[in-house]
Amino acid sequence: MARKSPIVFITLGLVLLTLSYLLAADLFGLMPDSRQAVLDARKKVVESLAVQLSVAASRGDIVAIRETVDALVRRNEDVLSAALRRVNGERLAVSGPHDGYWKIDPEGNSSLPNQAIVPIYRGDQRWGGVEVRFSPLYPSLLFGVELTPLLKLTLFVCLLASVGFLLFMRRTLRHLDPGAFLPARVRFAFDALAEGVVMMDKRGSVVLANSRFLADTRREEQRVMGARIMDWDWCLAETGQPAPDTPWMRALRDGCRQTGKVLRLEVADGEMRTFSVNASPIVGEDGKVRGVLATFDDMTVLEDKNRQLEKALSELQASRNEIRRQNQRLRVLATQDPLTDCLNRRAFFDLLEKSIARARRNGVPLACMMADIDHFKAVNDTWGHETGDAVIKRFAAIITAKLGADDALGRYGGEEFCLILWGQDLARAVSHAEAIRAAIERDGAHPPVTCSFGVAVLDADIVDGAALVKRADEALYAAKEAGRNRVERWPVDAGEERARDVPA
Ligand code: GH3
Ligand code: MG
Ligand code: MG
Repeated sequence: MARKSPIVFITLGLVLLTLSYLLAADLFGLMPDSRQAVLDARKKVVESLAVQLSVAASRGDIVAIRETVDALVRRNEDVLSAALRRVNGERLAVSGPHDGYWKIDPEGNSSLPNQAIVPIYRGDQRWGGVEVRFSPLYPSLLFGVELTPLLKLTLFVCLLASVGFLLFMRRTLRHLDPGAFLPARVRFAFDALAEGVVMMDKRGSVVLANSRFLADTRREEQRVMGARIMDWDWCLAETGQPAPDTPWMRALRDGCRQTGKVLRLEVADGEMRTFSVNASPIVGEDGKVRGVLATFDDMTVLEDKNRQLEKALSELQASRNEIRRQNQRLRVLATQDPLTDCLNRRAFFDLLEKSIARARRNGVPLACMMADIDHFKAVNDTWGHETGDAVIKRFAAIITAKLGADDALGRYGGEEFCLILWGQDLARAVSHAEAIRAAIERDGAHPPVTCSFGVAVLDADIVDGAALVKRADEALYAAKEAGRNRVERWPVDAGEERARDVPA
């Protein structure tokens, strides 16, 4: 059987109490009684009728008696029927459906509340009587129960008081502290919890809110108790839009536990707090949802920390990128020649050592080339140092344009450059040098310069990069010796003609 709410019992008690006051008032005669007034009026009608009819009977005027009885029924709404009967039982006149109305109780007594016999005398002798049937004093309900004013009042008060008291109790109890019925130790236990806890009835009105919840939401207990906190301005944490539903109302509706719903609430002017909300329906023995228990875990601090962490992470990332950029720049500065952007001497030698090791590992030929601008001092002397710089840059650019993907150019010093030619044997390296030489000669830039080259290839006798460069340098020297603007290879042909060596 469904359990009745205590409010219904209290209302019933109050209604019964009110009824008992009404009945007591009636008992003490404090209720106005219209019944007696009606009965008195009827008594007067009957008495005057008795006198009138006795006079007519004394005269033996039966017609007058009949007319009087007829007139009584016709003119008097309170009289339903009447009949004139002699003492011997003979019926002389009937007015209205008298047989249907006239009642005789089981003891043969016909003097009942709604009917009377008016005696008619002729002289001292009883001549007969008129049976008068009055309309019932009150409408009759079921089983002959009459709707007396007291019953009417009782029913009226019952109905109105039930509804009135019920509404009144509901409203009053909601505004009184609905959580007051909880034992102090239970409240104490709730208050000891680290997260906000709110218990709500099946309408979503708060019946208990622990101190953590009140503190986190910056609300007074009086404002929270009995309130429907679903009406507060909850927002969805992800979008910041007003939440169309709340987890506790959904738990109440669906009877299902809701977990980890993240809501935001403005708890004070401009102060937003973020809560992770869980809500579990409270189910009665009959399986019906009676209320809901919701927990509010304040995640604001955690969120702030997360945000700070994210910010710190992105700053860290930015500074790491900056460091990487700086390192890259440093590496460039450390390995590049600032004038020509090709490798500086140290970086070139590092690469050369690695290239020699790789070429040996893979059995790939490797050539080294030295290139030096002819009579460069004269360029400086004639056109100035800046022009000299431009010539060096141009020289490096022309060589770079003729490099393969695995080749490399380094500035050996001054106007002297050194190249690694990957995968090239002596013949290919020499023709490569020749191509560069021809390109510089044909360049057409001002002032025109020429260039000398020495080429050497890696062989088993080479111990390191310096040894290979030394051979190329020897070949370069031979090229200078042989008259410049030419390519020489190592080993240098000792018998070669040096006649073209023209001093600057
Ligand atoms: P050779 O044909 O025998 O190579 O004669 P050269 O004049 O080119 O050779 P030398 O070694 O006598 O002179 C090289 C000159 O290059 C000397 C130096 O002042 C100049 N020089 C070295 N480095 C730079 C530089 O970075 N810029 C400029 N403008 N001149 C430089
Ligand atoms: Mg030179
Ligand atoms: Mg030189």
